[in-house]
Amino acid sequence: MIVILKPHTDDGQISRVLDALKQYDVAFNVSKGETVTVIGLVGDTSAVDREKISTNPFVERVMIVSEPFKKSNRKFHPENTVVNAGGREIGGRTLAVIAGPCSVETRPQIIGIAEAVRQSGASFLRGGAFKPRTSPYAFQGLEAEGLELLKAAREQTGLPIVTEIMSPKLVERFDADVDVIQIGARNMQNFDLLKEVGRTKKPILLKRGAANTVEEWLMSAEYIMAGGNSGVILCERGIRTFETYTRNTLDLSAVPVVKRLSHLPVIVDPSHATGASWLVAPLAKAAVAAGADGVIIEVHDDPARALCDGPQSITPPAFAEIMVQLKAYAALEGRTL
Ligand code: PEP
Ligand code: MN
Repeated sequence: MIVILKPHTDDGQISRVLDALKQYDVAFNVSKGETVTVIGLVGDTSAVDREKISTNPFVERVMIVSEPFKKSNRKFHPENTVVNAGGREIGGRTLAVIAGPCSVETRPQIIGIAEAVRQSGASFLRGGAFKPRTSPYAFQGLEAEGLELLKAAREQTGLPIVTEIMSPKLVERFDADVDVIQIGARNMQNFDLLKEVGRTKKPILLKRGAANTVEEWLMSAEYIMAGGNSGVILCERGIRTFETYTRNTLDLSAVPVVKRLSHLPVIVDPSHATGASWLVAPLAKAAVAAGADGVIIEVHDDPARALCDGPQSITPPAFAEIMVQLKAYAALEGRTL
Protein backbone atom coordinates (compact mmCIF):
# COMPACT_ATOMS: atom_id res chain seq x y z
CA MET A 1 0.00 0.00 0.00
CA ILE A 2 1.27 3.49 -0.71
CA VAL A 3 0.19 6.81 0.70
CA ILE A 4 0.65 9.82 -1.60
CA LEU A 5 0.78 13.09 0.29
CA LYS A 6 -0.56 16.38 -0.98
CA PRO A 7 1.95 18.45 -2.99
CA HIS A 8 4.37 20.57 -0.91
CA THR A 9 3.60 18.79 2.38
CA ASP A 10 6.28 19.92 4.86
CA ASP A 11 8.37 17.83 7.29
CA GLY A 12 6.08 18.53 10.25
CA GLN A 13 3.04 17.43 8.28
CA ILE A 14 4.85 14.32 7.03
CA SER A 15 5.66 13.39 10.65
CA ARG A 16 2.01 13.77 11.60
CA VAL A 17 0.99 11.36 8.86
CA LEU A 18 3.72 8.93 9.96
CA ASP A 19 2.52 9.18 13.58
CA ALA A 20 -0.96 8.24 12.45
CA LEU A 21 0.42 5.27 10.53
CA LYS A 22 2.54 3.97 13.41
CA GLN A 23 -0.44 2.21 14.98
CA TYR A 24 -0.14 -0.40 12.23
CA ASP A 25 2.43 -3.17 12.29
CA VAL A 26 4.22 -2.19 9.07
CA ALA A 27 7.52 -0.59 8.05
CA PHE A 28 7.67 2.70 6.15
CA ASN A 29 9.62 3.79 3.16
CA VAL A 30 9.44 7.57 2.76
CA SER A 31 10.39 8.94 -0.63
CA LYS A 32 10.57 12.71 -0.90
CA GLY A 33 10.26 14.07 -4.39
CA GLU A 34 10.55 17.70 -5.43
CA THR A 35 6.89 18.38 -4.82
CA VAL A 36 5.31 15.12 -3.75
CA THR A 37 6.18 12.80 -0.87
CA VAL A 38 5.21 9.17 -1.08
CA ILE A 39 5.10 6.79 1.89
CA GLY A 40 5.36 3.10 1.14
CA LEU A 41 3.92 0.68 3.69
CA VAL A 42 5.99 -2.47 3.63
CA GLY A 43 4.79 -5.69 5.21
CA ASP A 44 1.36 -7.11 5.88
CA THR A 45 -0.98 -4.19 5.19
CA SER A 46 -4.17 -6.21 5.54
CA ALA A 47 -5.00 -4.61 8.91
CA VAL A 48 -4.44 -1.06 7.67
CA ASP A 49 -7.60 1.06 7.54
CA ARG A 50 -7.30 2.61 4.10
CA GLU A 51 -10.37 4.83 4.42
CA LYS A 52 -9.21 6.28 7.71
CA ILE A 53 -5.82 7.20 6.24
CA SER A 54 -7.49 8.76 3.19
CA THR A 55 -9.28 11.22 5.45
CA ASN A 56 -6.02 12.59 6.87
CA PRO A 57 -5.83 16.25 5.70
CA PHE A 58 -2.29 15.83 4.30
CA VAL A 59 -3.07 12.70 2.29
CA GLU A 60 -3.91 12.99 -1.39
CA ARG A 61 -4.53 9.35 -2.15
CA VAL A 62 -4.03 5.83 -0.79
CA MET A 63 -3.27 3.13 -3.32
CA ILE A 64 -3.13 -0.61 -3.03
CA VAL A 65 0.08 -1.79 -4.61
CA SER A 66 -0.58 -5.14 -6.12
CA GLU A 67 2.98 -5.71 -7.26
CA PRO A 68 5.02 -7.72 -4.75
CA PHE A 69 8.15 -5.65 -5.40
CA LYS A 70 8.30 -2.58 -3.22
CA LYS A 71 11.77 -1.05 -3.07
CA SER A 72 12.26 -1.33 -6.82
CA ASN A 73 8.72 -0.05 -7.52
CA ARG A 74 8.36 3.30 -9.23
CA LYS A 75 5.22 3.97 -7.22
CA PHE A 76 7.35 4.32 -4.10
CA HIS A 77 10.10 6.22 -5.83
CA PRO A 78 8.80 8.25 -8.77
CA GLU A 79 12.19 9.62 -9.89
CA ASN A 80 14.65 7.54 -11.91
CA THR A 81 17.45 6.07 -9.85
CA VAL A 82 20.90 7.07 -11.02
CA VAL A 83 23.53 4.58 -9.88
CA ASN A 84 27.03 5.88 -9.26
CA ALA A 85 29.48 3.23 -10.38
CA GLY A 86 33.23 3.77 -10.25
CA GLY A 87 32.76 7.53 -10.48
CA ARG A 88 30.35 7.32 -13.45
CA GLU A 89 26.59 7.42 -13.56
CA ILE A 90 24.20 4.82 -14.92
CA GLY A 91 20.60 5.92 -15.38
CA GLY A 92 21.23 9.62 -15.94
CA ARG A 93 21.21 11.57 -19.18
CA THR A 94 24.44 9.98 -20.38
CA LEU A 95 24.11 6.44 -21.67
CA ALA A 96 26.42 3.84 -20.15
CA VAL A 97 28.40 1.77 -22.63
CA ILE A 98 30.03 -1.29 -21.12
CA ALA A 99 32.35 -3.02 -23.56
CA GLY A 100 34.97 -5.72 -23.54
CA PRO A 101 35.53 -9.41 -24.13
CA CYS A 102 33.34 -12.21 -22.87
CA SER A 103 36.35 -13.53 -20.93
CA VAL A 104 39.63 -12.15 -19.79
CA GLU A 105 42.21 -14.29 -21.61
CA THR A 106 45.65 -12.67 -21.37
CA ARG A 107 47.14 -9.38 -20.14
CA PRO A 108 47.78 -7.98 -23.65
CA GLN A 109 44.28 -9.06 -24.75
CA ILE A 110 42.39 -7.31 -21.95
CA ILE A 111 44.58 -4.22 -21.88
CA GLY A 112 44.54 -3.88 -25.68
CA ILE A 113 40.73 -4.20 -25.86
CA ALA A 114 40.29 -1.85 -22.89
CA GLU A 115 42.43 0.81 -24.61
CA ALA A 116 40.53 0.41 -27.87
CA VAL A 117 37.03 0.64 -26.37
CA ARG A 118 38.04 3.56 -24.19
CA GLN A 119 39.28 5.44 -27.25
CA SER A 120 35.93 4.86 -28.93
CA GLY A 121 34.07 6.26 -25.90
CA ALA A 122 33.10 3.23 -23.80
CA SER A 123 32.43 4.17 -20.19
CA PHE A 124 33.10 0.77 -18.55
CA LEU A 125 35.22 -2.30 -19.26
CA ARG A 126 33.61 -5.72 -19.04
CA GLY A 127 35.39 -9.07 -18.90
CA GLY A 128 34.55 -12.41 -17.33
CA ALA A 129 37.03 -13.90 -14.86
CA PHE A 130 34.67 -16.57 -13.46
CA LYS A 131 32.64 -17.92 -16.37
CA PRO A 132 29.31 -19.75 -16.13
CA ARG A 133 29.79 -22.28 -18.95
CA THR A 134 27.19 -24.81 -20.02
CA SER A 135 29.90 -27.48 -20.27
CA PRO A 136 32.27 -28.29 -17.40
CA TYR A 137 34.92 -29.04 -20.07
CA ALA A 138 34.78 -25.55 -21.58
CA PHE A 139 37.13 -22.72 -20.54
CA GLN A 140 36.00 -21.64 -17.06
CA GLY A 141 37.82 -18.30 -16.96
CA LEU A 142 41.14 -17.22 -15.44
CA GLU A 143 39.37 -16.76 -12.10
CA ALA A 144 41.46 -14.81 -9.52
CA GLU A 145 44.15 -14.05 -12.13
CA GLY A 146 41.43 -12.64 -14.37
CA LEU A 147 40.42 -10.21 -11.63
CA GLU A 148 44.02 -9.06 -11.32
CA LEU A 149 44.23 -8.49 -15.08
CA LEU A 150 40.99 -6.49 -15.02
CA LYS A 151 42.44 -4.33 -12.26
CA ALA A 152 45.57 -3.78 -14.36
CA ALA A 153 43.38 -2.76 -17.34
CA ARG A 154 41.49 -0.33 -15.10
CA GLU A 155 44.77 1.09 -13.85
CA GLN A 156 45.97 1.61 -17.41
CA THR A 157 42.77 3.06 -18.91
CA GLY A 158 40.82 4.52 -16.00
CA LEU A 159 37.76 2.50 -17.06
CA PRO A 160 35.72 1.09 -14.16
CA ILE A 161 35.40 -2.70 -14.37
CA VAL A 162 32.31 -4.91 -14.56
CA THR A 163 32.63 -8.64 -13.98
CA GLU A 164 30.45 -11.59 -13.03
CA ILE A 165 30.33 -13.24 -9.63
CA MET A 166 29.12 -16.81 -9.28
CA SER A 167 29.85 -17.74 -5.67
CA PRO A 168 28.64 -16.07 -2.46
CA LYS A 169 32.07 -16.96 -1.03
CA LEU A 170 33.71 -14.38 -3.30
CA VAL A 171 31.56 -11.39 -2.41
CA GLU A 172 34.19 -9.78 -0.18
CA ARG A 173 36.84 -10.12 -2.87
CA PHE A 174 34.58 -8.66 -5.57
CA ASP A 175 33.47 -5.88 -3.25
CA ALA A 176 37.11 -4.88 -2.78
CA ASP A 177 38.25 -5.31 -6.39
CA VAL A 178 35.55 -4.42 -8.90
CA ASP A 179 33.36 -1.40 -9.66
CA VAL A 180 30.17 -3.20 -10.72
CA ILE A 181 29.34 -6.77 -9.70
CA GLN A 182 27.49 -8.66 -12.42
CA ILE A 183 24.91 -11.32 -11.57
CA GLY A 184 24.55 -13.44 -14.70
CA ALA A 185 21.33 -14.73 -16.21
CA ARG A 186 21.92 -18.19 -14.76
CA ASN A 187 22.16 -16.83 -11.24
CA MET A 188 19.29 -14.37 -11.35
CA GLN A 189 17.41 -16.52 -8.85
CA ASN A 190 20.38 -17.67 -6.79
CA PHE A 191 18.84 -16.12 -3.71
CA ASP A 192 21.80 -16.73 -1.41
CA LEU A 193 24.04 -14.90 -3.85
CA LEU A 194 21.52 -12.06 -4.18
CA LYS A 195 21.33 -11.71 -0.39
CA GLU A 196 25.14 -11.63 -0.09
CA VAL A 197 25.63 -8.92 -2.73
CA GLY A 198 22.75 -7.06 -1.12
CA ARG A 199 24.93 -6.64 1.96
CA THR A 200 27.53 -4.70 -0.04
CA LYS A 201 27.29 -1.13 -1.28
CA LYS A 202 28.64 -2.02 -4.73
CA PRO A 203 26.46 -1.43 -7.81
CA ILE A 204 24.96 -4.71 -9.02
CA LEU A 205 24.30 -5.42 -12.69
CA LEU A 206 21.41 -7.88 -12.54
CA LYS A 207 20.85 -9.78 -15.76
CA ARG A 208 17.43 -11.17 -16.52
CA GLY A 209 17.24 -14.96 -16.45
CA ALA A 210 16.65 -16.56 -19.85
CA ALA A 211 13.27 -17.88 -18.75
CA ASN A 212 12.19 -15.34 -16.17
CA THR A 213 9.30 -12.93 -16.19
CA VAL A 214 9.71 -9.23 -15.59
CA GLU A 215 8.10 -9.65 -12.17
CA GLU A 216 10.53 -12.41 -11.17
CA TRP A 217 13.40 -10.21 -12.34
CA LEU A 218 12.20 -7.30 -10.22
CA MET A 219 11.74 -9.63 -7.25
CA SER A 220 15.41 -10.58 -7.61
CA ALA A 221 16.28 -6.87 -7.57
CA GLU A 222 14.13 -6.70 -4.44
CA TYR A 223 16.32 -9.34 -2.74
CA ILE A 224 19.38 -7.16 -3.30
CA MET A 225 17.62 -3.97 -2.24
CA ALA A 226 16.06 -5.59 0.82
CA GLY A 227 19.61 -6.18 2.08
CA GLY A 228 20.29 -2.45 1.95
CA ASN A 229 21.92 -2.13 -1.49
CA SER A 230 19.88 0.20 -3.67
CA GLY A 231 22.38 0.34 -6.54
CA VAL A 232 20.79 -2.19 -8.88
CA ILE A 233 21.10 -1.90 -12.67
CA LEU A 234 18.84 -4.24 -14.64
CA CYS A 235 20.06 -5.86 -17.85
CA GLU A 236 17.83 -7.40 -20.52
CA ARG A 237 19.88 -10.04 -22.36
CA GLY A 238 17.31 -12.05 -24.28
CA ILE A 239 14.91 -14.77 -23.26
CA ARG A 240 14.18 -18.28 -24.50
CA THR A 241 11.37 -18.53 -27.00
CA PHE A 242 10.40 -21.00 -29.76
CA GLU A 243 12.67 -19.09 -32.16
CA THR A 244 16.07 -20.70 -32.64
CA TYR A 245 17.57 -18.51 -35.36
CA THR A 246 19.05 -16.21 -32.74
CA ARG A 247 20.69 -17.43 -29.53
CA ASN A 248 17.87 -15.85 -27.49
CA THR A 249 15.04 -13.47 -28.32
CA LEU A 250 15.78 -9.92 -27.24
CA ASP A 251 12.73 -8.75 -25.32
CA LEU A 252 13.00 -5.07 -26.13
CA SER A 253 9.51 -4.42 -24.82
CA ALA A 254 10.89 -5.25 -21.38
CA VAL A 255 12.78 -1.94 -21.46
CA PRO A 256 9.75 0.40 -21.45
CA VAL A 257 7.83 -2.10 -19.31
CA VAL A 258 10.49 -2.10 -16.60
CA LYS A 259 10.93 1.66 -16.89
CA ARG A 260 7.22 1.99 -16.18
CA LEU A 261 7.21 -0.44 -13.26
CA SER A 262 10.54 0.46 -11.69
CA HIS A 263 12.80 3.44 -11.09
CA LEU A 264 15.95 1.35 -11.60
CA PRO A 265 18.20 1.86 -14.64
CA VAL A 266 17.87 -0.68 -17.44
CA ILE A 267 20.54 -1.58 -19.95
CA VAL A 268 20.50 -4.03 -22.88
CA ASP A 269 22.94 -6.75 -23.92
CA PRO A 270 22.54 -7.25 -27.68
CA SER A 271 25.51 -9.66 -27.76
CA HIS A 272 24.11 -12.45 -25.58
CA ALA A 273 20.59 -11.75 -26.84
CA THR A 274 21.47 -12.55 -30.43
CA GLY A 275 24.65 -14.64 -30.42
CA ALA A 276 25.67 -13.04 -33.72
CA SER A 277 28.07 -10.14 -34.24
CA TRP A 278 26.13 -8.73 -37.22
CA LEU A 279 23.00 -8.32 -35.07
CA VAL A 280 24.72 -6.30 -32.36
CA ALA A 281 24.58 -2.89 -34.10
CA PRO A 282 20.88 -2.91 -35.08
CA LEU A 283 19.77 -4.13 -31.66
CA ALA A 284 22.04 -1.73 -29.77
CA LYS A 285 20.42 1.11 -31.73
CA ALA A 286 16.96 -0.30 -31.07
CA ALA A 287 17.77 -0.52 -27.36
CA VAL A 288 18.62 3.17 -27.23
CA ALA A 289 15.44 4.00 -29.16
CA ALA A 290 13.43 1.91 -26.67
CA GLY A 291 14.73 4.03 -23.79
CA ALA A 292 17.54 1.88 -22.39
CA ASP A 293 20.06 3.59 -20.13
CA GLY A 294 22.94 1.90 -21.86
CA VAL A 295 24.26 -1.21 -23.53
CA ILE A 296 26.77 -3.94 -22.74
CA ILE A 297 28.62 -5.22 -25.79
CA GLU A 298 31.17 -7.99 -26.25
CA VAL A 299 34.29 -6.82 -28.08
CA HIS A 300 37.24 -9.06 -29.00
CA ASP A 301 40.33 -8.24 -31.05
CA ASP A 302 40.30 -11.70 -32.65
CA PRO A 303 36.76 -13.13 -32.43
CA ALA A 304 37.70 -16.29 -34.34
CA ARG A 305 40.14 -17.21 -31.57
CA ALA A 306 38.08 -16.02 -28.60
CA LEU A 307 37.91 -18.58 -25.79
CA CYS A 308 34.24 -17.78 -25.25
CA ASP A 309 31.42 -16.21 -27.31
CA GLY A 310 33.51 -15.43 -30.42
CA PRO A 311 30.53 -15.54 -32.85
CA GLN A 312 28.79 -12.66 -31.10
CA SER A 313 31.93 -10.61 -30.44
CA ILE A 314 32.60 -7.54 -32.55
CA THR A 315 36.03 -6.16 -33.32
CA PRO A 316 37.30 -2.84 -31.93
CA PRO A 317 36.82 -1.06 -35.32
CA ALA A 318 33.23 -2.37 -35.53
CA PHE A 319 32.68 -1.13 -31.97
CA ALA A 320 34.02 2.31 -32.93
CA GLU A 321 31.51 2.41 -35.80
CA ILE A 322 28.61 1.42 -33.50
CA MET A 323 29.57 4.20 -31.09
CA VAL A 324 29.29 6.76 -33.88
CA GLN A 325 25.83 5.46 -34.77
CA LEU A 326 24.71 5.26 -31.14
CA LYS A 327 25.61 8.91 -30.60
CA ALA A 328 23.03 9.91 -33.21
CA TYR A 329 20.37 7.63 -31.69
CA ALA A 330 21.16 8.95 -28.21
CA ALA A 331 20.69 12.53 -29.42
CA LEU A 332 17.25 11.64 -30.79
CA GLU A 333 16.34 10.43 -27.30
CA GLY A 334 17.71 13.59 -25.69
CA ARG A 335 20.67 11.66 -24.28
CA THR A 336 24.41 11.76 -24.70
CA LEU A 337 27.06 9.10 -24.92
C1 PEP B 1 28.26 -12.71 -19.90
O1 PEP B 1 27.94 -11.51 -19.73
O2 PEP B 1 29.37 -13.06 -20.34
C2 PEP B 1 27.24 -13.75 -19.67
C3 PEP B 1 27.58 -15.00 -19.41
O3 PEP B 1 26.00 -13.28 -19.81
P1 PEP B 1 24.57 -13.96 -19.46
O4 PEP B 1 24.57 -14.17 -17.99
O5 PEP B 1 23.61 -12.90 -19.91
O6 PEP B 1 24.46 -15.21 -20.27
MN1 MN C 1 29.68 -13.90 -23.08
